[in-house]
Amino acid sequence: MNHGDFLKDYRIKDEPYYRPQAEEIALFTAAYERRLPVMIKGPTGCGKSRFVEYMAWRLGRPLLTVACNEDMTAADLVGRWLLDSDGTRWQDGPLTQAARHGAICYLDEIVEARQDSTVVIHPLTDHRRQLPLDKKGELIQAHPDFQLVISYNPGYQSLVKDLKPSTKQRFTAFRFDYPSADVEAEILARETGIDPGLALRLIGLAESARRLKGHGLDEGISTRLLVYAASLMADGMAAKHACRMALVDPLTDDDDIRATLEHAIDALF
Ligand code: ADP
Repeated sequence: MNHGDFLKDYRIKDEPYYRPQAEEIALFTAAYERRLPVMIKGPTGCGKSRFVEYMAWRLGRPLLTVACNEDMTAADLVGRWLLDSDGTRWQDGPLTQAARHGAICYLDEIVEARQDSTVVIHPLTDHRRQLPLDKKGELIQAHPDFQLVISYNPGYQSLVKDLKPSTKQRFTAFRFDYPSADVEAEILARETGIDPGLALRLIGLAESARRLKGHGLDEGISTRLLVYAASLMADGMAAKHACRMALVDPLTDDDDIRATLEHAIDALF
């Protein structure tokens, strides 16, 4: 079996729609040419994962994505021994599969994982490009096409939940943010079929909410939520219902903030 076949389920067959915001495609390509590890920072729902999918497609690499969480252990990344009827058998985790077979491994929201689980990535990020499987007694030399990509949201950063400097300093980094209004309108129109004029009104609402970040809202309205609202409207839902359901209620339980957003919705639609 060749490596390409092994990860065929992880190949991205159709070009994902990705609207660039700046030079990120060329910059990521340059980082990949050198197989440098990449960190993508930015608020939730601003296009980080879509960008990684697009780059994996463009570079023709399979993509293994791991949504990190606090219960994740190093074994969830590297693999573990399993018991079955024939005895024990080793099962590679996604990081090991990617390193062995030459995929891009994307660790989404890496700060959610405990630091002791993430140190396993260190030897893969320097010139050694190795992954020790201590429990199996194997040292993997990463495939030449392997690349490690991580994302995180600096907004959630706290002293307890931050990447160790020793981890951060192993990555090149991209800073992402919500797209500018005209680009975001283009994305909404393309993703949902909504009229661009209506898309701009939704974005007006998002901009008011984004100004409330740090003043009652932890996070602004993401592009992802705008896509939800726009798709409900494109299917004929009244703007007020769509906005409430996709943009207000997911974001806040605070009565004052709700009232402010409701007021903005009334003014816009
Ligand atoms: P993140 O990984 O930053 O949380 P995603 O990449 O999942 O966010 O983006 C959320 C949604 O927003 C995507 O599913 C897509 O519909 C839309 N989106 C955001 N930015 C872009 C972009 N630049 N091009 C195309 N779609 C985008």
